[in-house]
Amino acid sequence: MDIHWHRDDLRATDNDGLAAAGADGEALPVFVFDDRVLQHGSPPRVAFMLDSLAELREWYRDRGGDLYVARGDPTAILPDLAVEHGVDTVHCNAGYSGLARDRDSAVAEALDADGVALEDHEDALHHEPGSIRTNDGDPYSVYTYFWKKWRDREKADPYDAPDAIADVTGDELPTLSELGFDEPEADIEPGGMTAAQQRLDSFVDGPIYEYEDLRDDPAADRTSKLSAHTRWGTVGPRTIYAATEEAAASAPSEAAAEAVEEYQGELAWREFYHHVLYFHPHVVTENYNEYEEGIEWRDDDGEIAAWREGETGYPIVDAGMRQLREEAWMHNRVRMIVASFLTKDLMADWRHGYEHFREHLVDHNTANDNGGWQWAASTGTDAQPYFRIFNPMSQGERHDPDAEYIREYVPELAGVDADTIHSWHELSEGERESVAPEYPAPIVDHSERREQALAMFKRARGEDPDE
Ligand SMILES: Cc1cc2nc3c(=O)[nH]c(=O)nc-3n(C[C@H](O)[C@H](O)[C@H](O)COP(=O)(O)OP(=O)(O)OC[C@H]3O[C@@H](n4cnc5c(N)ncnc54)[C@H](O)[C@@H]3O)c2cc1C
Repeated sequence: MDIHWHRDDLRATDNDGLAAAGADGEALPVFVFDDRVLQHGSPPRVAFMLDSLAELREWYRDRGGDLYVARGDPTAILPDLAVEHGVDTVHCNAGYSGLARDRDSAVAEALDADGVALEDHEDALHHEPGSIRTNDGDPYSVYTYFWKKWRDREKADPYDAPDAIADVTGDELPTLSELGFDEPEADIEPGGMTAAQQRLDSFVDGPIYEYEDLRDDPAADRTSKLSAHTRWGTVGPRTIYAATEEAAASAPSEAAAEAVEEYQGELAWREFYHHVLYFHPHVVTENYNEYEEGIEWRDDDGEIAAWREGETGYPIVDAGMRQLREEAWMHNRVRMIVASFLTKDLMADWRHGYEHFREHLVDHNTANDNGGWQWAASTGTDAQPYFRIFNPMSQGERHDPDAEYIREYVPELAGVDADTIHSWHELSEGERESVAPEYPAPIVDHSERREQALAMFKRARGEDPDE
């Protein structure tokens, strides 16, 4: 019997470590609530995780086994369990953040003292960090070249679920409050393998073919919404990829097949950012690209608070920030807009945004969230150049022309026509007062802030801001 230690791979099928644990006998699946990890959690994410764990436990119980649940220090719990059941190997799927790697080396050392091996598997990514490099052997810092190699490389097939599961029961699953978390403010979508598979099936059944056209349209809401599931591993990457390959094989047109490839490109972005985090763990708190003179962020508390609350007077920004509070999720295009607004229009340090997203997003994962923020702040790998600053009004007009998305999340604008919404910044105080008295005036002037942000970045680059 071998142990499989689940962490953010809350599934029984297409799980490399679990399949290895069950290869020659019963697999003993384990989940440990580790307070050192939980202190980085947040209500939406932990709620989704608990939901997913409940289903995983049911899955094992339906097959005559159980998920062994414990709370405490894995460096003590895992060796004790291994010794008690005569286990000589504990399997797990590699984590790529600094925190995960430190935890895993401590556990490996503790197990080793009892003669037990910790075997980690590259399950979460198709191609593990280090496996895709430049011709000079360096990790990639430019996505496009990374993508070409990623796309052309063969992918593994999904793993089967293990045949036999050990029936070793630990604790009951704790509740959110027992773990020290409040109920989430947002409605959290269901977690677990069934919900993940349903999302995947419905996406590859149609919307994937329109991905290229509709991925930037937040009102259409036609992206896969698999991000919380990839975050918690309720569906395996090989399963997702195999479904996209099947969709490509039966694509009704060349354009539809291209849309599938566009979607696969997003799966590769996720892997790219995991590689970046693996090779540059400091990006969690530091800029990937340091500017010579350092960036002097403006960091106005009142402006940052208005951004968090969705009260900036820029309708697309406020709609996004309110979607985040209501659903613990935000559309990708809108994430880009709100992140640009915070870092360029408000000239606030990206870390304020990252912290807020970390608290509120159900799909927050360090690699993607950090990658997204540093992209928007022009401090990241392959980031938006500092001089390309989104105009929040024209972004709203281009990506939500009928203001459908805006009206859904900003009820103060519910009865206002799209043209008026998209020219909100140009209206007089009296006009604004007469059409939507509850909705705020823009808290900053975009054109002025654009100039100031350019000057801020030029100074950071050691250049004369007036040139
Ligand atoms: C400021 C900012 C913060 C972000 N924070 C996160 C985060 O914490 N967690 C997260 O998963 N994604 C994050 N993203 C990336 C992206 O917004 C989400 O992955 C996407 O919106 C999730 O919705 P979806 O599953 O419908 O995406 P789809 O468009 O259906 O994409 C499919 C999958 O590809 C991956 N993906 C898509 N876009 C990106 C991207 N730009 N970078 C990396 N992976 C991507 C995700 O795993 C996603 O589930 C962030 C983007 C920005 C700009």
